[in-house]
Amino acid sequence: MVAHAEATYPNECCGVMLGSIDGDSKSVTIATPLENVSAGSQTARYQLRPEDLLHADREARRLKLDLIGIYHSHPDCDAYFSETDLKNSCPWYSFVVLSVQNGKFHHANSWLPNAEQTASEKEELIWPKS
Ligand SMILES: [Zn+2]
Repeated sequence: MVAHAEATYPNECCGVMLGSIDGDSKSVTIATPLENVSAGSQTARYQLRPEDLLHADREARRLKLDLIGIYHSHPDCDAYFSETDLKNSCPWYSFVVLSVQNGKFHHANSWLPNAEQTASEKEELIWPKS
């Protein structure tokens, strides 16, 4: 995810996270980069192809995993969850936002939108050691 976010800088990257859900805890096993198909400037926008998302969901099921969320980057911006992000979100996914400053990964946050998509809660994000 970090490598993808840095590679697409100064544009936004996006992708899906496959993994497993155990109670309140979600573990990402595989992060798959997807194409940002947003028309126009991609420095502050991302858009996923619905069929890419469908394909990822199928792939997750084949691997006996769940599609647990979507990640995207914020080039030269903090890892906050924007109004647009909230509007384009799905309440059952976790949304990881990666802040990339001057082409280098800076920090990340994970957000969980509420069912009405009017607010999002920050989730604890634990990076793998190594
Ligand atoms: Zn965003």
